[in-house]
Amino acid sequence: MSRPPVYDRVALIGLGLIASSMFWAMRREGLAREVVGTARSAATRETAREIGLCDRVVDSIPEAVAGADLVVLAVPVGAMGAVAAEMAPHLKAGSTVTDVGSVKRAVIEAVAPHLPEGVHFVPAHPLAGTEHSGPRSGFAALFRNRWCLLVPPPGTDPEAVARLRALWEGMGSSVEEMDADHHDLVLAVTSHAPHLIAYTMVGVADDLRRVTDSEVIKYSAAGFRDFTRIAASDPTMWRDVFLTNKDATLEILGRFTEELFALQRAIRTGDGAHLHDYFSRTRAIRRGIIEAGQDTDAPDFGRVQTET
Ligand code: NAP
Repeated sequence: MSRPPVYDRVALIGLGLIASSMFWAMRREGLAREVVGTARSAATRETAREIGLCDRVVDSIPEAVAGADLVVLAVPVGAMGAVAAEMAPHLKAGSTVTDVGSVKRAVIEAVAPHLPEGVHFVPAHPLAGTEHSGPRSGFAALFRNRWCLLVPPPGTDPEAVARLRALWEGMGSSVEEMDADHHDLVLAVTSHAPHLIAYTMVGVADDLRRVTDSEVIKYSAAGFRDFTRIAASDPTMWRDVFLTNKDATLEILGRFTEELFALQRAIRTGDGAHLHDYFSRTRAIRRGIIEAGQDTDAPDFGRVQTET
């Protein structure tokens, strides 16, 4: 027997990787009776209509949120405030607004002041993504076995939180609740600083005139190749992440720099024991991630090998 939908009508604002994956997952699992979507550009709305993304694609934010029980803000973090201001007068009383932004404190500060009394706000962050973006990049399995963190401000209606939890669990995620500042610090360690380091490494390789571009590409080994995948992530999204999670990211980068100096020193002084101990510790962390089901143990990070 199929379960009833969690929401009657869901509005997706922004139709990129995350929103399109949510649509396909909601549709597969029957989690919403109707999904209405809109995006800033006519080109994205046109693509969405062409590929059947959303039950209805409309041309404006007020049209999209009218009558919606759940409104999902799936735009870059820096655009959330303006979108919230535009939609606020058109929200249905008793509805829930959520977002999927990668930073939480800044989104709460940008969105909450615009929301009328009687509308619930339950910020969220699915810890799932790829380096691709846009309406064609989504797929239903993106959130399967991934965490989704809910960050409800104190005093949020527990029923609104429970319903959003049911939606994310229905899409295959494990859900946990967390305070916004803690979220931003955890993500600075696990995602934001690593992305910045990847961007830097690829930038350094690009700057090295002794190594020509073609050599960088031709001889790209696993380490560099993995950096380039991360460094191919959407520039707007990541610009906004660093501008809005400034303190936590700078804190972690400060620690990173200290560790880097310590490793530099160990290399210079030939302190092999230090290097070996350090790499043994990091290897154990990798094992922990695999045991927690957050990555595959397949060789070469699970890349499919083509037979020759
Ligand atoms: P995306 O594929 O680049 O799509 C972004 C969408 O936002 C597009 O529909 C775009 O419209 C719209 N948009 C961009 N700038 C806008 C603006 N100034 N005003 C209104 N709409 C605007 O992005 P995404 O990867 O789905 O990311 C969406 C959100 O999810 C971000 O807040 C991001 O931090 C978060 N997130 C991303 C990942 C990830 O790995 N990608 C993971 C977790 C959370 P047009 O197409 O018309 O330009």
